Amino acid sequence: MMKNKRDSATLAILRYDPVKSTEPHYETYDVKATKDTTVLDALFQILETQDHSLAFRYSCRSAVCGSCAMFINGRYKLACSTLISEIGRDVIIQPLPHMPVIRDLVVDLTTFFEKYKVIKPYVVPINPPPEKEWIQSPKQRSKINDSTDCILCAACYSSCPSVWTGKRYLGPAAILQAYRFAADSRDGILRDRVEVLGSENGLWRCHTIFNCTEACPKSLNPARFIESLKRTATKETLKARIPFLH
Ligand code: SF4
Repeated sequence: MMKNKRDSATLAILRYDPVKSTEPHYETYDVKATKDTTVLDALFQILETQDHSLAFRYSCRSAVCGSCAMFINGRYKLACSTLISEIGRDVIIQPLPHMPVIRDLVVDLTTFFEKYKVIKPYVVPINPPPEKEWIQSPKQRSKINDSTDCILCAACYSSCPSVWTGKRYLGPAAILQAYRFAADSRDGILRDRVEVLGSENGLWRCHTIFNCTEACPKSLNPARFIESLKRTATKETLKARIPFLH
């Protein structure tokens, strides 16, 4: 046990290896922690000096890859940008809730990314293309501001009751990304996008509970983008049914 709590922290980590055990359990570790130590730094300390079997994901260490999203002291956080000195030196860490656990803090994101692919996460250019480059004005670009900051960490997805109860629902991250491309001035398949989003498992399954907005570690507001797409989908559907609205 470390003596001076100002230079140390205690991490209780929910461990689970489905190959070896049937139930998850907590294991506790004492680590050195200065004012600059992040949760990810502490996980590395444990991995390197105490328990080589601890599993967690990380990549950029700069809060831009989304790999290290976890549930830390009851909040969705990125381990790489969470300072232990700011959250208290007794830290409880769980994998993203409501997600299948592969091992320890690593969850299975297969379904999350399958749903992401459904919304065609790329610009499908307007036809015919311009003779030179695509021009996008600052005003046009401002429509997709914020939505381009999503790092696909899956925190919002993990927090969404509509995902928990409707396994095929696209979820807040995929819909936010759909907004990012639907609102892009260079994109030419709004009708197709609206059709996918208007389907049974699309945006109408969102009940505006705002868990996604609270969960997002990048301070985005997926619920706002979903609401905006609901308005667009309604307008496009009306236009298709009542041609003189064009
Ligand atoms: S909207 Fe926020 S919480 Fe959801 S995937 Fe993107 S960055 Fe993560």
